Amino acid sequence: MDEKIKGLNTICTHFGEIQDEQFKGAVSPLFMSTSYAFEDVDVKRYPRYFNTPNQVALSKKIAALEHAEAAMIFGSGMAAISTTLLAFLKAGDHIVLQKTLYGGTYNLVMEEFHKFGIEYSFTKSLEPEDFLAEIKQNTKVIYLETPSNPLLTITDLKAVAQIAKKHGLVSMIDNTFASPVNQNPIDFGIDVVLHSATKYMGGHSDILAGAVASSQEHMDRIFQLAKNFGGSLSDYTVWLLERSIKTMGIRVRAQNENAMKMAQFLYEHNDIHAVYYPGLESHPGHELAKAQMKGFGGMLSFELDKNLNSSTFQKSLRLIKSSMSLAGVESTVLSPTLTSHSLLTAEEREKQGIVDGLIRFSIGIEEIEDLIADIEQALESVKAKTTALQSNEI
Ligand SMILES: *Cc1c(COP(=O)(O)O)cnc(C)c1O
Repeated sequence: MDEKIKGLNTICTHFGEIQDEQFKGAVSPLFMSTSYAFEDVDVKRYPRYFNTPNQVALSKKIAALEHAEAAMIFGSGMAAISTTLLAFLKAGDHIVLQKTLYGGTYNLVMEEFHKFGIEYSFTKSLEPEDFLAEIKQNTKVIYLETPSNPLLTITDLKAVAQIAKKHGLVSMIDNTFASPVNQNPIDFGIDVVLHSATKYMGGHSDILAGAVASSQEHMDRIFQLAKNFGGSLSDYTVWLLERSIKTMGIRVRAQNENAMKMAQFLYEHNDIHAVYYPGLESHPGHELAKAQMKGFGGMLSFELDKNLNSSTFQKSLRLIKSSMSLAGVESTVLSPTLTSHSLLTAEEREKQGIVDGLIRFSIGIEEIEDLIADIEQALESVKAKTTALQSNEI
């Protein structure tokens, strides 16, 4: 039956599911066993071999969502990313990385790669020529992230994939921000797709998980290292993640719609200095995003008018929560300067266009009217405080 399933929400709901032959229940049964027979069986199963019934079932769903031959589920996004990178890089090899990277991936490269003797370069910009410019004799991998965190810049998937193919390199993408609902990089020639499933796949801010999807050949190579590194996910969480993904299509599409309305509202507002959202025509990556994404996503960033204090504004929000993470059904905001990009110097942040007052906004599924009302009351509150402060000064 699986092969006939093509539509996104049908894949989310059904693809790969385990039929409950015994009781005819509607959802996949959960097999919690960490111990399986080794005699008279076709597969020797063990959770750290990524091959329990629930792991295998969910991997099929994720592969189908990313138009890949195979997939694997990990205990976190970073477990998936670190294992995958090290499966393709050894001492003496070189990797080209996009300059704007998720903080955890950046730390992995900066803190660990020298111990393995792996060389790296960051691109100067997101232009495909700049990926090409960093390729050396010993380069093996090109790694990118689009849309990026926190300014939602867009990298040309097809152009970078072609550069990688031409030079015999493996191209990898962190597709977390887009989710498989909005972007399928394999369709543009990218080889390996990574996810922090903690984000849109989980979607409820209560699961830590990661995933990787690629060709069977690449997945075999990743598996060889993964079973030794031991980053697999426990079956109970695998089962919860399967449940979460059932609603991923409708959640993310609702988030796309809310984010577009929110971006337009902020863009037109006098108290907002700048809005970064690939769905806006004013965004430098808009045309590219239109060509390679199915939806513009639920993430945006914005800056208040220079006179208004960003931290006071964030503390004045009542419905929208402060959060280190993103992509839940609830709307949340974060200050990149104080969190994800706090390890960079002010100068490095400025180079990336991340000003101190920047606010990253993960849009949830609430009614847009309520979200806008919350932003409006917080703006009024911060303005009242700013005026009070100014009159005190005089
Ligand atoms: C959160 C995140 C990760 C890391 O995932 P964990 O599940 O926290 O290990 C990687 N990339 C991006 C873009 C993320 O947002």
